[in-house]
Amino acid sequence: MQKPRIALDMDEVIADVQPKFEALFEEAFGWRPDPEQYRGGKIYDLPGTQKLREALHLKGFFADLPVMPDSQAVVRELMADFDIYIVTAAMEFRASFEDKYDWLAQHFPFIHWKNIIFCGDKSVIRAEYMIDDHVRNLRTFQGKGLLYTASHNLGEEAFTRVNNWVEVRAFFEEERRRLA
Ligand SMILES: [Mg+2]
Repeated sequence: MQKPRIALDMDEVIADVQPKFEALFEEAFGWRPDPEQYRGGKIYDLPGTQKLREALHLKGFFADLPVMPDSQAVVRELMADFDIYIVTAAMEFRASFEDKYDWLAQHFPFIHWKNIIFCGDKSVIRAEYMIDDHVRNLRTFQGKGLLYTASHNLGEEAFTRVNNWVEVRAFFEEERRRLA
């Protein structure tokens, strides 16, 4: 029998983009904002800082992002009962492809390339679960969406929220019991 599928986002779910943007912000503007100042948005939504977002187009940006704590261990555990697919909206950032591919090979070598999907619009994805930090991706998803906490989604109430990978593990332990 086919295992239930989990579509797993990369940025701000298994790869932490935040520290890099904080460092770039400080480098560019000489100060470091408190996350409360851009609650509900991204750091580059602060007035006059939009050009920071252009860093996403630079080769190497995605190459050395820290791994979200516990994500490797929990993904490995989940693979016993679920098919994991990495689903990342990479197409906006041409230079990101190799970086993302190499990052996955380095940090998640146990995920087969056949289970990696670089895409544009995630609404084409069909799976039982999706873990993502953007509500726009969960809104068009037909399965069960889990919202991974990030500054820009604080205050969103429409989806089951997971704040870290320990909570992801707990959610799927419950699902295993329910499906058994
Ligand atoms: Mg993301």
